Amino acid sequence: MADLLIANARLPRNAGLSTVRIESGRIRDVTDQPERVAAGQALDAEGKLLTPALVEPHIHLDAVLTVGQPRHNLSGSLFEGIAIWGERVKSLSADDVHDRVAQVLRWQVANGVLFVRSHVDVCDPQLTALRAMLEVKREFADRIQLQLVAFPQQGIQSFPDGEALMRRAVELGADVVGGIPHFELTREYGEQSVKFAVALADEFGKQVDIHCDETDDEHSRFLEVLAAETIRLHMEGRVTASHTTAMHSYNNAYAGRLIVNLRRAGMQMVTNPLDNAVLQGRFDHYPIRRGHTRVKELLAAGVNVCLGHDSVMDPWYPLGKADPLQAAFTLAHYGQMSGYEEIRTLFDMITVNGARALGLPDYGLEPGCRANLVLFDAATESDAIRLMAPRRLVIRDGTIVARTEPARTVVNWEGRDEPVDFMPVPIKVRQPIG
Ligand SMILES: [Zn+2]
Repeated sequence: MADLLIANARLPRNAGLSTVRIESGRIRDVTDQPERVAAGQALDAEGKLLTPALVEPHIHLDAVLTVGQPRHNLSGSLFEGIAIWGERVKSLSADDVHDRVAQVLRWQVANGVLFVRSHVDVCDPQLTALRAMLEVKREFADRIQLQLVAFPQQGIQSFPDGEALMRRAVELGADVVGGIPHFELTREYGEQSVKFAVALADEFGKQVDIHCDETDDEHSRFLEVLAAETIRLHMEGRVTASHTTAMHSYNNAYAGRLIVNLRRAGMQMVTNPLDNAVLQGRFDHYPIRRGHTRVKELLAAGVNVCLGHDSVMDPWYPLGKADPLQAAFTLAHYGQMSGYEEIRTLFDMITVNGARALGLPDYGLEPGCRANLVLFDAATESDAIRLMAPRRLVIRDGTIVARTEPARTVVNWEGRDEPVDFMPVPIKVRQPIG
């Protein structure tokens, strides 16, 4: 007897309907033909899209909901954002971090996100944010799974005792080692910081996730160092490069060679179109560069690329509600990924690709996988992104953990109330006469 049976579900990249049987929190089987199920025995998905739980591979939870504190980012630039955050961290407390993050974790679960990698600023001798986040990770472990990155916002070599703080952060329990080489005081410091981060992760058996070349400067080339260190220390598959916006400005010959080496290094790439759409190109006169990593070229070369939200209402990005669909919608435009297959790839980027980057076991829709699922109020990937479709159900280990009742909109049309759901009604094409 199944704990939960979901009938008439449309799975990603699948035109037909499927039935998903869940037992003991795991997917027992997925059958192609919709079963004839007696009313009340199964949950009827009504032909809507059912995907694995969404994965958030890149967010800064310790900074969420701090927009305007202590002041607003007037220029909207990355560096003013870093300066404002430098002021805000002075008043950081464990309760402050806990209460803000607890809110956004609820938002994420409501959006269908059950796996999160969060960067946490460790440029603080007390490591207040990291200690608070380790507590949050334990407190909410039965609701959402967190990976924490020791993230040196002000640099490793350029911040007093930076290396010691990074080591302390890993000893305290950070899962992943971070870095920010393009922000270090010199190019040499930047290289040193990358080598230090990869070696530290290797020593402790951790993963690596570096904010790498998040700048429009075509001379920012720390990604090649990260790839080389990954290969040298046999860390293939365990290293992530986030942002890599300078790749937009590299010459094609250099970028092409780099992408080959990223493939060789098994590099996991994270693109963050929400923040980088507003932060990059700030020093340009027209034409203004998009300042975005080369998503299509990386994917075509067989490199895993996933999609992050980065910020939710913080000094760098005042908008957002922790919904990966907003990031996917933005990348469809900003990364010119509006082709038929590309829209489906956007969905991979907020699900399976993210799971691969985070190294999540038992993730997906295959029998035996943990039953972590999202049912959208839309039949296709394209409609889900177009409509930012509500998550009708979010299921964690076979249990429904969030529900959304879709809004009902009515338009008064020629004196009559008529419902509008933004779905086209098939229109008969009139054949021309004669
Ligand atoms: Zn980031």
